[in-house]
Amino acid sequence: MAGAFGPFQDRADGLICHYSRPMPSVYIKTYGCQMNERDSEAVAAQLVAKGYTLAPSEAVADVILLNTCSVRDFAEQKALNKMVNVIAETRRNRPETVLGFMGCMAQNRGQELIDRLPDVDLVLGTQKFHRAADYLDELLAGRREKIVDVAAEQGSEATIREHLLYGNAAKNGDGRRLPLQVTAFVSIMQGCNQYCTFCIVPYTRGEERSRSIPDIVAECRQLVSQGVKEITLLGQIVTSYGKRRFGVVAGVPPAVEPGVPPGGWTPNSSNRLEISYIVPGGKMPPSTAGGTPAATSPFVQLLDAVHEIEGLERIRFTSPHPKGYGDDLIEAYARLPKLVESAHLPVQSGSDRVLKLMHRGYTRARYVGIIDKLRRARPEIGISTDIIVGFPGETEDDFQRTLSLAREIEFDQAYIFKYSQRRDTPAAEMPDQVPQKIREERNQRLLDVINKIAGRRYGAFMGRQTQILVEGPSKKNPARMTGRTRCNKIVVFDPAGGENRGQLIDVKITRAGSFTLYGDPAIVSP
Ligand code: SAM
Repeated sequence: MAGAFGPFQDRADGLICHYSRPMPSVYIKTYGCQMNERDSEAVAAQLVAKGYTLAPSEAVADVILLNTCSVRDFAEQKALNKMVNVIAETRRNRPETVLGFMGCMAQNRGQELIDRLPDVDLVLGTQKFHRAADYLDELLAGRREKIVDVAAEQGSEATIREHLLYGNAAKNGDGRRLPLQVTAFVSIMQGCNQYCTFCIVPYTRGEERSRSIPDIVAECRQLVSQGVKEITLLGQIVTSYGKRRFGVVAGVPPAVEPGVPPGGWTPNSSNRLEISYIVPGGKMPPSTAGGTPAATSPFVQLLDAVHEIEGLERIRFTSPHPKGYGDDLIEAYARLPKLVESAHLPVQSGSDRVLKLMHRGYTRARYVGIIDKLRRARPEIGISTDIIVGFPGETEDDFQRTLSLAREIEFDQAYIFKYSQRRDTPAAEMPDQVPQKIREERNQRLLDVINKIAGRRYGAFMGRQTQILVEGPSKKNPARMTGRTRCNKIVVFDPAGGENRGQLIDVKITRAGSFTLYGDPAIVSP
């Protein structure tokens, strides 16, 4: 690929030529978690602001970027296979197309990706998303042949901030025109210091780095002024927000158990029992009965600050760590009405022995205790989780404990992962790796239990009236609309009349499907 887009080329006299051809179009395909989705959105928004357009499909794009995931080998293989197919198609028919990998696998494998697939032009690491536009300009103008940038960059945690609320329109609106989406993700931190023994994320995302509260609040305010009603605060472990950035000043009861190592396995992973902080821009909650303000973690101070934004209706966050559920966070659920009745609490296993091998830093009893407290604070709360089956050394007895935990908690939803060996993580070297066949069989058995329970929990909504935020037309059938309950259940309904994106409406649930509810706004009296 070289110099396909003449307009980008600098003239010999140093002036930049005017664009005589249309600006290139870009197609970004995203693998993995919501953080990856958010990173892709920020890159797309940066490119649109520079004049690029978003291609409706890879078949017509001038630039194809794959934003990758490394959490499991399967996700890496999927992105690699996709790139092989993209190369075969574009090099035959559109050889000028710029091809790139970005995100976690790009960070993890770097130059290796170009050595393996020499048609790839760009490899962009997780701290370099904001450089995408500059690098693409250089590649498109033919000034550089290949670019690999996976270096760490101080301050990069604050660079994921642009949103794409209005699609291909270069400028976002000012709230007079409703955005295409009324919900938005806001990245509050990058990286992870938890070092669970199975997990590659600390290597692909780097050390925990948090943005400041005023910076995050300013982004949220801007979104709300443009018509966003619901914000999800995002991070690898949001409950660790700010713990490494802000000073310790006082103590609240720690969210870990005495005698249980707090998790993490590197000597300097600094899982200290830091407990309370003064955060610039943060706010202490109301005084306790004794007159002294209750000390809270930086994350709860952030929740308090975001909660004050006028016009914002709902706050969610993901993904937390059970360790981060101190009493201050539970109390925030009871205190902050905009914080919805929904919690995603990755448990990973129901066996204390496996939790210890994973270095999770909590026991099953502690986990159950947190859920009890959350349900006491908010009886309607929806609980979802992540579970890994087939972790090295997991016996049938350990697995039975996971099944019994699923029955005891009655999760509304669970994401089940078959353990995947990740290079350079301690678990990959552990003895007693569980055969693939057993991982698959346990996956199915757990899925059966989870689905049965979820079916019951969704079924319990039948006939009930519930509030939803209308998000827009249903993807499966655009004649219908979808919204989400506060406890994070999708509701599909036939619009009775004036329901619009961004409205909070009451619906009566008339049918429960698997992980979807169906409602009727018409039979709710105003
Ligand atoms: N905040 C989360 C936590 O508390 O662990 C971390 C989110 S992680 C990026 C997403 C999920 O991927 C994890 O919760 C875990 O269930 C799964 N996961 C991570 N590494 C895995 C591996 N090696 N094999 C299978 N699943 C894995």
